[in-house]
Amino acid sequence: MELVSRIRIGEDNRQKFRRNRAPYHRAQGWSPLEKDGNAIPAVQVFLTQRTFVRICAHAGSDLHNEVGGWLVGKTYLDRETGTPFIVINTMLPAEFTLQGSAFLTFTQDSLVSLHATLAEDYPDMVLLGWFHTHPKMGVFFSEWDRWLHENFFPEKWQVGLVIEPFSASGGFFLQQTNGTLDTRRYFGFYELYHRRKRSIVHWRNLTPVNHLLE
Ligand SMILES: [Zn+2]
Repeated sequence: MELVSRIRIGEDNRQKFRRNRAPYHRAQGWSPLEKDGNAIPAVQVFLTQRTFVRICAHAGSDLHNEVGGWLVGKTYLDRETGTPFIVINTMLPAEFTLQGSAFLTFTQDSLVSLHATLAEDYPDMVLLGWFHTHPKMGVFFSEWDRWLHENFFPEKWQVGLVIEPFSASGGFFLQQTNGTLDTRRYFGFYELYHRRKRSIVHWRNLTPVNHLLE
């Protein structure tokens, strides 16, 4: 289990949350069509449009196998409400090892190279989570996904995005405020506009809202 404890990144990821104004005024909220009003996410997720595009391009690069990568950015506390939020500023494609069509895992090499890249190219950012595709399987966390997430991304501000490229759908899995991680219940996100306030999100399982908790 040496790998697990090392990649837990306790040192690098011991986060100081910067206080900032959450950029709701520059964002479009997206909420699951079916949602559980009682489930409160531990963090609000902001995803830049540029990163959304790159994630979708990578997700569509192989429609027969699961592909994935890492989500990188910053953690904040909303200056007005004290609510934690994250901004996913970039993604890095990962060399996941594939073991069958529905079973991917991280390799030690991919994690080592990830941390080298983070330290060199993104010294002010942290590993906010991961994403992967479920071609023709739907948006959920398998038991294996849950295991990976709980072991490699144990912080409340770390998230797992699952994308189903055939139906154009996706959702974020993350802890709720009470610490539970529901493998069947995903959350939406805030699409952070680049320049113009024009949405580019096309996932059919999400619906636009002004505020995710509405
Ligand atoms: Zn999965």
